[in-house]
Amino acid sequence: MSNFLRFQINEKNLYIYDNDSGLIFNIDESLLNIISGERKSESLERDIFHDYNMQYYDSFLKKYDNTCKSISYKGKKKLTIEDIKNHIENFGMKQLIFEITEQCNLRCKYCIYSDKYPYHRNYSKKIMTFEIAKKAIDLYMYYFIKVFQYNPKKRPTFTFYGGEPLLEFKLITKIVEYVIKKYNFYDPMFNITTNGTLLSSEVIRYIAKVKDFYVSISLDGPKEEHDRNRVFSENKGSFDQIFNNLMKIRELYPTLWKNLNLLACYDFGTNIYKAEEFFENVDLPSLIRVSMVEPLFSSYYKRFSLQEKNNFIKTYFCKKKQYIENIKSGEKTSRYSDLLFGTSLFSLYNRFKFYCNNTFFTSFTGTCIPGDKIYVDTEGRIHICEKINSHFSIGNIYSGLDLNKILRLMKKYDEEILTKCGNCPISRVCGGCYATFATKRLFERPEVFCESRIKSTTEDLKDLTEILIHNPTYFRNKYQK
Ligand code: SF4
Ligand code: SF4
Repeated sequence: MSNFLRFQINEKNLYIYDNDSGLIFNIDESLLNIISGERKSESLERDIFHDYNMQYYDSFLKKYDNTCKSISYKGKKKLTIEDIKNHIENFGMKQLIFEITEQCNLRCKYCIYSDKYPYHRNYSKKIMTFEIAKKAIDLYMYYFIKVFQYNPKKRPTFTFYGGEPLLEFKLITKIVEYVIKKYNFYDPMFNITTNGTLLSSEVIRYIAKVKDFYVSISLDGPKEEHDRNRVFSENKGSFDQIFNNLMKIRELYPTLWKNLNLLACYDFGTNIYKAEEFFENVDLPSLIRVSMVEPLFSSYYKRFSLQEKNNFIKTYFCKKKQYIENIKSGEKTSRYSDLLFGTSLFSLYNRFKFYCNNTFFTSFTGTCIPGDKIYVDTEGRIHICEKINSHFSIGNIYSGLDLNKILRLMKKYDEEILTKCGNCPISRVCGGCYATFATKRLFERPEVFCESRIKSTTEDLKDLTEILIHNPTYFRNKYQK
């Protein structure tokens, strides 16, 4: 055992999170010193005798060895084209995401297509043609049918993304009709990620009549919070328009209402108490994500003073502490807090599931396998996902996925990122991925990212352990019904 993170609960109980196995151990200082090799080897046996019953030490290590053998990531196999092909054809193609247009009718201040994110494209007038969309669908279905043969429960999923995809509503209807006409046998699903301003009666009526069409709408909180960032080009807030559209759907289309989801962002200017109150007390569609405005490779956070940053951090941790106390005492928690604080706790709790899925290919961080899903841009180039910038294409709709390119990309990521993660005590739960580290044709791993990730993971490990001590079935009951 060499790669672990130590943490303490209540200033007296010492724990280690062992990165090799993913296990968390309650341990004491002496045993930790022995295991970490901090004591000289020649005195090791004497120390063990002195501090411990030899049997205890032996049985600890035996148990550890046996448990680890089955889950340790060491001995990762060298990757081949055949491996990637098999993975994609068995597990990949979870969704096809269309970059319907690079235009948007809003100019949100934290948008990744704004000048705050130099490695991402800017807004443009580019629109996908129906010809490109059709080719993308046929290509996706070519791969999907292979996945379907392996797992007939899978359903093809088509997601509309932008810019603002509803600016090209007619194209979306043509795509939906094409998919339904040609591939209805596979029971397709549709999603759209929209800013919610263009949900006109015509759009709502159409979406409501398509089976399994889900709508994700960005809404950051109450009017003053949302309008702080999500604005039209003349700086006018978009809240009223979105809210009216939501109320229209609630009143006239109760079935579609159930298929709506909300996505919220926060930054150092967010009043998380007010945001929570809003999402708790207003009758809204279900909130499914609360995420921080991306700080990496961005100048966005320059707008905040040190005091604003510190105030936010203080409030955040105070609220998080309250959240953990509420869970420990069995009190109800809000949906907003569950997403704001609970999401990372749950992924830590659920870490073994992630290990099993990806261990063969990616021992480190939280990255997917390119081809798990595909993002097709307005010109027909294929990318790993909607979050990565446009410098890492993995094929195009005319010749399909370029497996050689994927292999090169995975090796490049290994060289530029993963080789530096070897001794990191949280490498298996770090969560960084291709999109996180992508700059211009390179993957870069800023130290500030690692420092903050290790710090937040240590905090989460403490909170997770405390919760499990008080309420061992909490996560199972809450998330795995
Ligand atoms: S709606 Fe989306 S794409 Fe448009 S400006 Fe806002 S964040 Fe960017
Ligand atoms: S925190 Fe940094 S060093 Fe650790 S796994 Fe993540 S990227 Fe690598």
